Amino acid sequence: MERSLQVALEYRGCLICHMLDKDETDFMANLQYQTIKDEKVRQDVVSSNGYCNFHFHQMARLASPVGNAVLTKDLIDAEIKEIERDSVGPILKIDCPVCKYAAEREEFYVKEFRALLSEKSFQKEYEATDGLCRIHLKGVLDLLQGGELHQFMLTSHMMHLRLLKAQLETFISKVRSTSRDFKEEKNSWLIAIEKMVGKRGLKK
Ligand SMILES: [Zn+2]
Ligand SMILES: [Zn+2]
Repeated sequence: MERSLQVALEYRGCLICHMLDKDETDFMANLQYQTIKDEKVRQDVVSSNGYCNFHFHQMARLASPVGNAVLTKDLIDAEIKEIERDSVGPILKIDCPVCKYAAEREEFYVKEFRALLSEKSFQKEYEATDGLCRIHLKGVLDLLQGGELHQFMLTSHMMHLRLLKAQLETFISKVRSTSRDFKEEKNSWLIAIEKMVGKRGLKK
């Protein structure tokens, strides 16, 4: 299931966010299946107190109603037992397994990006994308700590920002002139939001 960032080069938006989204979806699809089939996996999820708000709602969409019922019933059982044992302390401390997995993958991709950046061919390919979101740009810059590649990242970030700004301007003026002839600027506002805060549900 190991993927490489190079797969993301042809898509719009932050490369790392794109890969994280794919990995997270696969992980969740597999996990929701396992929680139904495998008692041990389900108990692990229960002992983590389930999932965080964002991932629980995502998981709920991937799972069947009965799958959701089985898991939430076990979570409620665990909570009832805690109350009976009078050990309601950190009851709501959720150690979300999807968040944990996503954090590992994020670290992997930031490091992979740093490694690929040493290749001139990757630099060229990267320039032709929408670049990274602010969060992942910072992650890469932290690894670089100055030098030529640090400068390359800032220069290309500036170029990506200017191009995106131009697309937003085109989008705004087309909408105002009631034109429906949208091209690459069609989703520019969505790409811009991701540029600011990263993909939906990114924990930072
Ligand atoms: Zn990102
Ligand atoms: Zn989570």
